[in-house]
Amino acid sequence: MAAVARLDLDGSPIAPMTICMIGAGGFIGSHLCEKLMAETPHTVLAVDVYNDKIKHLLDPPAYAEGQQARHPWDGRIQFHRLNIKHDSRLEGLIKMSDLTINLAAICTPADYNTRPLDTIYSNFIDALPVARYCSENSKRLIHFSTCEVYGKTIGSFLPKDHPLRKDPEFYVLKEDASPCIFGPIEKQRWSYACAKQLIERLIYAEGAENGLEFTIVRPFNWIGPRMDFIPGIDGPSEGVPRVLACFSNNLLRHEPLKLVDGGQSQRTFVYIKDAIEAVLLMIENPARANGHIFNVGNPNNEVTVKQLAEIMIQVYSKVSGEPPAEVPTIDVSSKEFYGEGYDDSDKRIPDMTIINKQLGWNPKTSLWDLLDSTLTYQHRTYAEAIRRAMAKSVAS
Ligand code: NAD
Ligand code: UDP
Repeated sequence: MAAVARLDLDGSPIAPMTICMIGAGGFIGSHLCEKLMAETPHTVLAVDVYNDKIKHLLDPPAYAEGQQARHPWDGRIQFHRLNIKHDSRLEGLIKMSDLTINLAAICTPADYNTRPLDTIYSNFIDALPVARYCSENSKRLIHFSTCEVYGKTIGSFLPKDHPLRKDPEFYVLKEDASPCIFGPIEKQRWSYACAKQLIERLIYAEGAENGLEFTIVRPFNWIGPRMDFIPGIDGPSEGVPRVLACFSNNLLRHEPLKLVDGGQSQRTFVYIKDAIEAVLLMIENPARANGHIFNVGNPNNEVTVKQLAEIMIQVYSKVSGEPPAEVPTIDVSSKEFYGEGYDDSDKRIPDMTIINKQLGWNPKTSLWDLLDSTLTYQHRTYAEAIRRAMAKSVAS
């Protein structure tokens, strides 16, 4: 029996396509590859310097002795280990594909003020040839930017108790209306946001002047399994990942969670699996996605970082069956935690009008539920390795 054709949002059949996915070995890339393999007929040319997070899709599954095991998607994903900074194979891979998705970036805040040059090169200079090859070869591009291009909210400049701080006009972030507000140059935190903003402007200009078909994605704190690394286990001991992995590491080691400057900044967190649904809609609905910039986040999941810590402590205690540490959180200054030049976004609520209208997408998963499944994964994946590492360091 012939397979039923997949239809796009306008009822037209979706033709199988070849996707060059740069940064496919990272957190978002690994989930997107999984989704594309499990639910679509598309082929992925997966480009990255690492492949640990997509190995389960590449390697044949374990099977009974003597039998040839295959994934159902066998032959539809190929890994190309290359650094896009200096590899002439990149243009060939883009030419072979119908669509390029660029996820490659340095995107951990601990790097922005301590490695600003690497951050700017990675997010602007290294992304330039990708945009140029797509434009010159008339290939579609989905480029991953960030919600951080909005910087600080307008409301953050009002006095603390000013009533307009409560007016959504002063804090909700809209793709086609909100300004991008960064701190001074010496606050090198903004090197990332500024590089991402400039590559967005360049891609937008390629669209306007040379007809590049593009979509820009602005993720608002996507979180879930496989995000970043646990220091000393599958990443450097002194490394500082993003907040989900920092707090997971503290919980796994039974240490207090560190609240930077008291954890007063606000964030909205969206479950990676919800967010990937939005990306798949963009991939398969070019007529609705081309030429647009999309916020992708969950405005209903807003918390302060302190509240996030409190919920994670509760959820982790439930999934691990262990009581919370006696001192659950401690305050640290941003200078002590991140070093000189750190600054922060105060609040990030995505406006959802454009993505609702173009793609009919809405996030589904509550903060409690997404933390429940993510911390269950963290506990299952890391608790034993942490226990052994801690026992070894006590013994030595
Ligand atoms: P990630 O660090 O897990 O993935 C990035 C991947 O790119 C890594 O596997 C890395 O090895 C690869 N890469 C970097 N430089 C490369 C190079 N020169 N050549 C080849 N590969 C290279 O990050 P992520 O969370 O998956 O983020 C993906 C994209 O989404 C980034 O552009 C990031 O700025 C953006 N973003 C993500 C979030 C989020 O919530 N996760 C938020 C804002 C923006
Ligand atoms: N943060 C914190 N403790 C940590 C790690 C991060 O209080 O151990 C704070 C950080 O200062 C920021 C927020 O958590 O206010 C989110 O940080 P993340 O690294 O996830 O990235 P961001 O949302 O700033 O891009």
